[in-house]
Amino acid sequence: MKILVTGGAGFIGSNFIRRILENSIKDVSSVVVLDKLTYAGLKSNLPPSGQNDFEFVQGDICDQALIDKVVGKSDMVINFAAESHVDRSITGSRDFILTNVLGTHTLLEAAKKHEVKTFIQVSTDEIYGSIEEGSSIESDPALPNSPYAASKASAELVARSFFQTYGLDVRITRSSNNYGRNQFPEKIIPLFITNLIDDLKVPIYGDGLNSRDWLHVDDNCDGILKVLTNGQPGEIYNLGGGTELTNISLTKKILGIMSKDDSYIDYVPDRLGHDIRYSVDPTKSQREIGYAPLVNFDQGLVETVQWYIENQNWWRTLKK
Ligand code: NAD
Repeated sequence: MKILVTGGAGFIGSNFIRRILENSIKDVSSVVVLDKLTYAGLKSNLPPSGQNDFEFVQGDICDQALIDKVVGKSDMVINFAAESHVDRSITGSRDFILTNVLGTHTLLEAAKKHEVKTFIQVSTDEIYGSIEEGSSIESDPALPNSPYAASKASAELVARSFFQTYGLDVRITRSSNNYGRNQFPEKIIPLFITNLIDDLKVPIYGDGLNSRDWLHVDDNCDGILKVLTNGQPGEIYNLGGGTELTNISLTKKILGIMSKDDSYIDYVPDRLGHDIRYSVDPTKSQREIGYAPLVNFDQGLVETVQWYIENQNWWRTLKK
């Protein structure tokens, strides 16, 4: 089985590659990463080409000729490639529509043409929009609020249409907020950890009461593998972490681990259209594919802080 992983040089994709190469997944004969290497993608996050039947191709998922060629040699496609930062989508959304919608469509067209066996579209809990109470299930409507979330919801709809219309085996994952090693230091956890390493304050949007569910990147990668091996064509799978925290509670945990006090908190004007709360119900994934996140959040957070302390060369070149 030949797997194509798009966006594999980014945060979750590179952790996914690490996992599948280390654990030599049954029936996988080769792994190709295709990545444009935007500001968020680093070739150094990946092993050298040629090792463990691994190959890296630099390219854009919107490039029809290249995608046709690369997808033509693949049995499975896992699409992580995306513009992923909500704040950037608020200041300029064009690249989000191009990569997240047109790029996904370009991959789907090639997957249809070459009769790819399975196509996994990596999506997000943000497509549900803000939910004041309870948890979203897979059949709930998509009510995205940010341009990022709207682009991801749009990509999902195009992917769904390729299943409904052409019978392409498309499966969709909707995970909650990921954390762990290799995350670009613009997202809240690595931004705050790296600021505190440098004895800088951490900017909290609004009153800090927006809440998110947190999932360790290793658990997301295991969930995606379960969708690949145990999932069904045309199905959507919520991958939640079960650790819901307001941004202020999360910040206090990070401050505690790093022995800093509340004077390091800097309340800044709220993000435009900031969703109050996301929460996904992972019951279907637990029941149908055996999804079971294992990493304890407090333990995972301590290890993540430690990783950023030990890997300052990695993030100092990225953080301007
Ligand atoms: P990331 O920004 O760290 O990585 C994205 C990768 O995609 C980068 O390597 C980048 O170079 C590549 N890329 C961007 N545009 C491309 C293009 N046009 N062609 C080819 N490659 C391109 O993102 P991430 O946090 O690793 O997220 C991966 C996926 O998971 C995304 O689809 C995102 O929407 C989804 N997701 C992320 C989270 C999270 O908490 N990080 C949660 C749920 C879902």
